[in-house]
Amino acid sequence: MKDVRVLLGDITQSDCDCIVNAANKTLLGGGGVDGAIHRAAGEDLVKECATMGGCETGEAKITKGYNLKAKFVIHTVGPVYSGSVQDALLLGQCYKNSLDLAKKHNLHSIAFPAVSTGVYGYPPEKATKIAVDAVRQWKENNKEYQIRIDFYCFSERMYAQYILTLKNTNY
Ligand code: ADP
Repeated sequence: MKDVRVLLGDITQSDCDCIVNAANKTLLGGGGVDGAIHRAAGEDLVKECATMGGCETGEAKITKGYNLKAKFVIHTVGPVYSGSVQDALLLGQCYKNSLDLAKKHNLHSIAFPAVSTGVYGYPPEKATKIAVDAVRQWKENNKEYQIRIDFYCFSERMYAQYILTLKNTNY
């Protein structure tokens, strides 16, 4: 897919216009990628997050990036994996709503972590398919808008899974 990359590494080091945080509903920080983003951004991030009234699963909210290279952080809350049909819809919404927010703020590069695949337990094979499908659909619906999309992987296994998923879906 044009303008889509798969990268291995720490998303806090991304120089994209915005990075996406796999947050929890409180938006007040947590473990995993959420903790790493808050540590790298500094304490002002949690102060801004505290004014936002939390975030529902599948939705997304934007803050400044503070000490990060990225100017903005888009916080989205993935579903806790349960195996229901609803999980897939909500995870797809995380990607769609994050991209909508990026466009609304005129941002032209975005880095996504593999939302829900850590503590929230989403199987990587399924989660990467949903992510890739959601991004493809969004790009179809927003053909006039240029944005580079990076899928940031924190393990070799996730990296290999994204490459395979992209190949299997003919990108
Ligand atoms: P969730 O609660 O949505 O499952 P996690 O933070 O537990 O969120 O995990 C989401 C994904 O982010 C996992 O694949 C995990 O390996 C990955 N991850 C953790 N830290 C980082 C990081 N610094 N950069 C990029 N990805 C990360």
